[in-house]
Amino acid sequence: MSTEPITGGCFCGALRYRIDQVEQVANCHCSMCRRTSGAPFVSWLVVPRGGFAYTQGTPRHLKSSAQGDRYFCASCGTPVACIVAGQPAHIDITLGSLDHPEAFTPAVDVHKRSRLPWVEIKAKPQGNEP
Ligand SMILES: [Zn+2]
Ligand SMILES: [Zn+2]
Repeated sequence: MSTEPITGGCFCGALRYRIDQVEQVANCHCSMCRRTSGAPFVSWLVVPRGGFAYTQGTPRHLKSSAQGDRYFCASCGTPVACIVAGQPAHIDITLGSLDHPEAFTPAVDVHKRSRLPWVEIKAKPQGNEP
C-alpha cells in the first residue's frame, strides 16, 4: 500500500478525516447499512481507532441499534463512520467518502443472507464469514 495519507470527507466538505492504517475492506449487506445509506449495501474500511482522526468538523451521532453507533455529516447527511459495540478497538469508515475510493477493493462480504437478491457476490480467496 502507498505511504500517501488516506483522506476523505462528506459531500459538502464540513467533515474531513484522515486514516493511517486499514485492516480490512468489507461490503456489508445488513438492513441497517442499507437503510441509513439509502444504497443496496455499504463498503466499509475497517480501521484501528488510533489510526483514524477527524481533521475538520464534528459528525452527528445516531445510535442505530444496541450494537451500532453511526456518524454522519449534520449538514449534508453523508454517512462517514460506524462503531460496533463488539469491536471497540475499530472504527468503520465508508469507502464511498474517501477522496480516492478506487484505491481499495472489498475483500469480504458480511451479512450476505440479507443482501438484495440481485446483488451478485464474487467468489473471493478468503471468503469465510457470516
Ligand atoms: Zn457534509
Ligand atoms: Zn451493515
